[in-house]
Amino acid sequence: MSELLEVDNLSKRFGGFVALDNISLTVPAGERLGLIGPNGSGKSTLVNCICGTLRNEQGSMRFDGKPIDGMPAHKRTHLGLARSFQLPRPFTSLSLVDNVRIPRLYTVAARGMHRTAEEIDDHCHGLLREVGLEAKARHLPRDLTQVEMRKLELARAMAAEPKLLIADDAMAGLTHSEIGDILALLVRLNARGVTVILIEHIMSAVMSFSRRLVVLVSGRMIADGKPDEVMRNPEVEKAYLG
Ligand code: ADP
Ligand code: MG
Repeated sequence: MSELLEVDNLSKRFGGFVALDNISLTVPAGERLGLIGPNGSGKSTLVNCICGTLRNEQGSMRFDGKPIDGMPAHKRTHLGLARSFQLPRPFTSLSLVDNVRIPRLYTVAARGMHRTAEEIDDHCHGLLREVGLEAKARHLPRDLTQVEMRKLELARAMAAEPKLLIADDAMAGLTHSEIGDILALLVRLNARGVTVILIEHIMSAVMSFSRRLVVLVSGRMIADGKPDEVMRNPEVEKAYLG
């Protein structure tokens, strides 16, 4: 597998507070990576630095072989970097299919692809079908349950045809069976070639999804490896059991 994401010696401070301390991480294409750590350990900060919503003051990153340091977030999106979930923000006055159409149109334009309106429409309905929302294509987001809202968010992320999807807190507030639904969708996307980083505190979900596990504690990466081996690491046990 070739490396899709390469993070090299990345550090991030908020004032005098070190939120990320020399993080180095490589993620090959096709990976299913779980990123875990106690609250406040720096997981979302790392995601924000990778996606370009926060600027890291030290370190360098490459995505799909290209340096992305200093690159604005929307350009990273065009390269194939997508995040989903933490704050679902659909367009409340637009139908579901139009909610998917907007990022799709944007992606088609930004990549200079030539698509007819009908092709775009078909594609958007296909994305809704894939997440199980086709029957509600003409509904407004306010008609959706919480888990359906996450599925819409996932369809919107997929409209940009990402190579890497980062799902930060994808399962918060969902029931056991709803979590299973979202995991199954993420596994299916991965099987279609999308690399996935899952940030999640429900350990059963992380363990069933991840083929590799990375652990952050207080901004430091303390483990990176096979999930069962990582969970037996004494430092990880200490971080989780106190
Ligand atoms: P996690 O996602 O692992 O729960 P975060 O990355 O959100 O952790 O936060 C890591 C630490 O950085 C926390 O102590 C948090 O309070 C702090 N932090 C996060 N974002 C900011 C910010 N914009 N300004 C100041 N401190 C922040
Ligand atoms: Mg977080």
